Amino acid sequence: MKTNMKTYETVIGLEIHAQLSTKTKIFCSCPTQFGSVPNTQTCPICIGMPGVLPVLNKKVVEFVIKAGLATNCTISKHSRFARKNYFYPDLPKGYQISQFDLPLCQRGSLTVGDKIININRIHIEEDAGKNIHDSSDIHSLVDLNRAGVPLMEIVTEPDIASPLEAGAFMRKLRAILRYLEICDGNMEEGSLRCDANISLRPIGQKELGVKAEVKNLNSFRYVEKALEYEIERQTKILTDGGRIIQETRLFNTQSGKTISMRSKEESHDYRYFPEPDLVPIEVSDQWINEIRETITELPDQKTARFVRDYKLPSYDADLLSLEKYTADWFEEAVRLGGDSKQVSNWMMGELMRLLNEKNLSLDKSPLKPNLLVDMLKLVTDGTISGKIAKTVFEDMFNTGKSASEIVKEKGLVQISDLGELDTVIDEIIKSNSKEYERYKAGETKLLGFFVGLVMKATKGKANPKLLNSTLQKKLST
Ligand code: ADP
Ligand code: ZN
Ligand code: MG
Repeated sequence: MKTNMKTYETVIGLEIHAQLSTKTKIFCSCPTQFGSVPNTQTCPICIGMPGVLPVLNKKVVEFVIKAGLATNCTISKHSRFARKNYFYPDLPKGYQISQFDLPLCQRGSLTVGDKIININRIHIEEDAGKNIHDSSDIHSLVDLNRAGVPLMEIVTEPDIASPLEAGAFMRKLRAILRYLEICDGNMEEGSLRCDANISLRPIGQKELGVKAEVKNLNSFRYVEKALEYEIERQTKILTDGGRIIQETRLFNTQSGKTISMRSKEESHDYRYFPEPDLVPIEVSDQWINEIRETITELPDQKTARFVRDYKLPSYDADLLSLEKYTADWFEEAVRLGGDSKQVSNWMMGELMRLLNEKNLSLDKSPLKPNLLVDMLKLVTDGTISGKIAKTVFEDMFNTGKSASEIVKEKGLVQISDLGELDTVIDEIIKSNSKEYERYKAGETKLLGFFVGLVMKATKGKANPKLLNSTLQKKLST
């Protein structure tokens, strides 16, 4: 047995880049539309022609202050831009305008579950262009549409203890940014990307271990998977008596592994210095207060209110509050008379299932709150059974028709009429006389067998309560 066997704990810090959804770029008036023809959204400023001057888009500052306020940051009354110098073809100026020693927001926090994760800073920067390597061409191409698109970088303290917690932090952050309408959170389009820093240390040790940084993760799953892989890799090195080297790594989505990109020795010296072409950012208390006033209810507050006002379990409230549109949909259904827990159940169950299946977002659903509420009324007044409701629901989802229309068209009205049900039951008992005798001899579990047959014969339309009581009565005579 090894005597130096140690158990390690995981330490994670995230650097998250969020694209701000301003209409125009950060230092010029070019549009920021995703997916446009390469190099059609450019001008001398964002392609870095000599002699041009950047002019700061005020909305960018406003958006980042919003993010700072929503994450409990201190907003700097005085901050400034810095040049981060490096050479790469997607960066024609040879430097990126960012913030270094005086970021706009500092020392914030976000609560994830029961845990507080501290935020070190949020700063403003511009995005670079994009290199396009086409394997059928010996040349590489550069698209500068993204150059000068405004970003904010959110840097957490190394407070995150597991890949799942990292994923949860990102989901929470995304929800808040979307509520604030300052970032669309579209990870496939790169509106939210994450560099994940991770190290291990023996449990009980105060000092941080040597970290690796996994660059450019663009989905929650990739963040979690890359970090899981790193834990495995680093644990193996450490238990084998090796040392972790500080390096930047890339996640291969195919293999699920990370590979080394560059070690610290090869890393850039960015030679940061204050940006001489832009004046420092001065923020007044009045402006901060004005921006604070525009911040509406955020996910956590909404969750608490849903638990309090609608008596929802916090699990439901949490899920329904993740997206403002979903929360509004829920509240609209309740306002129209739907029972809160029933509405929640249908939304989290069938509705989510169908949306996933069709790969749709809720705002594209043909099924609107009023349709759900009308259907629930038909269930409550006994017109349709809960089982039939599922079919009706799916039909409503596919066609946008109302429940009563569908019920009428398809003849789905529940059979609550004793006479009609009587006839069916009598026939079934007659043609299954053996089972009937066995039932009478004491094999009462055969009730289920008869219920099944009646349901089949009525295409699920028999009122379950009525069916049960009538069957029991008839079988016992
Ligand atoms: P760097 O100088 O390499 O950029 P920073 O101190 O600026 O490192 O931190 C960058 C990110 O890495 C932050 O999110 C921080 O919380 C995280 N971090 C720093 N040190 C560690 C460590 N030893 N283990 C895990 N994460 C770390
Ligand atoms: Zn431009
Ligand atoms: Mg750093």
